[in-house]
Amino acid sequence: MNEELCDSVSSPAPDTALQLTRSSSIGDYEESSGIDGGEEEERMINLSDLNPYILCSICKGYFIDATTITECLHTFCKSCIVRHFYYTNRCPKCNIVVHQTQPLYNIRLDRQLQDIVYKLVENLEEEEKKKMCDFYRQRGLEVPKPATPQPICTGRGRSRKLLGPVFRIPPELDVSLLLEFMGAAEGTGSFKPLEKKFVRVSGDATIGHVEKFLRRKMELNTACQVDIICGDHLLEHYQTLREILAALGDSAIQDGLLVLHFGLVLSQLSLL
Ligand SMILES: [Zn+2]
Ligand SMILES: [Zn+2]
Repeated sequence: MNEELCDSVSSPAPDTALQLTRSSSIGDYEESSGIDGGEEEERMINLSDLNPYILCSICKGYFIDATTITECLHTFCKSCIVRHFYYTNRCPKCNIVVHQTQPLYNIRLDRQLQDIVYKLVENLEEEEKKKMCDFYRQRGLEVPKPATPQPICTGRGRSRKLLGPVFRIPPELDVSLLLEFMGAAEGTGSFKPLEKKFVRVSGDATIGHVEKFLRRKMELNTACQVDIICGDHLLEHYQTLREILAALGDSAIQDGLLVLHFGLVLSQLSLL
């Protein structure tokens, strides 16, 4: 936790007063939360004073499954930050590049911070647990067991108990694609926008595979042909991504991503 968290979070939380001892040091992640008091001098503080440290700047609610970016130590709800990384590889707060291609590599569940939030905010833990159980029960699924935290050292030299990586990406998916849509020619019909333009694939995949992927995601009709280009090269179906990378080198790469542009044109067959 750090001072940068103080910026621009709104405070929808109730202004509940609670007691913390002067030694309690949420900002420094010391072992004793101090909430139990003991001999030390006590003072009252408002829960709202702590909001900058326990509210997610994405959803403006209290952290749920607090998840911290290891590169800048900014924290968000797990679901909020995972969704954010669908669209960008940068931190929502400080805008640093979290990871060139796979920002999910560099986030960790932050059990210690989540424990603090649950201690500070009455009933939040119970409500969340209940919501989670209901979610799984309604779907007839087994409720997953919580994981055990392991200490890791952060870049700032402090040891914090963070869980292991939230996601692991299979090593065979070694190429990260950025698929940029250029537009559609007249007569190619309706299509859905491509929701997720960052894709992790094997270098053995061909342009044919990429086209299939685009056809499925955008629900393209048969009259529609997908032209895929890299730089100013029109790519052929049989070319693998590895070959394209080898042939075009750095000129094809931007921020660690292989950038492919694609456009929709009328199929040659449909013109016959
Ligand atoms: Zn959130
Ligand atoms: Zn950040």
